[in-house]
Amino acid sequence: MTPDALLDRDATELKARLSLRARLSHRLSRHVPTAPALPHLHGPMVSITFDDVPDTACSTGAALLDAHGAKGTFYVSRTLLGTATEHWRVAGVEALADIHRRGHEIGCHTHDHSLVPTLDAGDFAADIGRNRDAFAALVPGLTLENFAFPYGYASLAAKRVLSRTYGSGRSIVPGLNTGRIDRYFLRANPLFDRCLDAGLLARLMDEAVARNGWVVFFGHDVAEGASPYGCSPGLLEATLSAAGRRGIPVVSIAEGMARARGIAGERCPIEEASRQSSETSVRLAEGGPRDP
Ligand SMILES: [Zn+2]
Repeated sequence: MTPDALLDRDATELKARLSLRARLSHRLSRHVPTAPALPHLHGPMVSITFDDVPDTACSTGAALLDAHGAKGTFYVSRTLLGTATEHWRVAGVEALADIHRRGHEIGCHTHDHSLVPTLDAGDFAADIGRNRDAFAALVPGLTLENFAFPYGYASLAAKRVLSRTYGSGRSIVPGLNTGRIDRYFLRANPLFDRCLDAGLLARLMDEAVARNGWVVFFGHDVAEGASPYGCSPGLLEATLSAAGRRGIPVVSIAEGMARARGIAGERCPIEEASRQSSETSVRLAEGGPRDP
């Protein structure tokens, strides 16, 4: 399934906004890594993520995750916060702060819900920096660490920027993350009623167990009569139960990355930057050498 088949806007209109160069960059970004691959995982994992984020993802979605002892990742854009769209009302800051307090992850989805291949590296870096600053100001203690591409469109320039600033980038290309995983183009499967049935769910979970894979899902609203881009509470429940029956942990993207990095002994760029800055502060306080 191509990203176009899953877009929450008219694909023709979106494609028309992408130059040939931008479309090529998106295609290349799927195949060209910009950071060392994650190593082979030592066990299967499942992650459930929500984009934009509709208020029902924060209420019904997060409650179901809590009931299973699972943590989700909710990718937010400052511009969308509290707005009403054709399909749902976007959660407000209080709802996001509440799920953050409960241990769920808030991730970055650009400030303006931008079509990433239309931005050059400088504009993209500025946009995601604005989003991180905005949410740090809105939700005490929150630092956005992981990223999802709006509409699933990526670019090589954006992946390079992310490799210096965020721990991962999530696509909407379906499949299992296994073997040498591109952390800036994580595969993700639609958690949509119209795309995921019991047979596909079982196959994904069984394959994750057999191959030590990481199954990432992405959705939007969680409601009876959900939008074409969301799911019923029953499908989310079935997904959580399918993981539980197989003993697969359901972890946030941050936790999944930490488990992978634990194997690799690597750090997330934002953690590394803050570690260096605190070491620099210590050195400065001690009268040690200054970084150039
Ligand atoms: Zn989105």
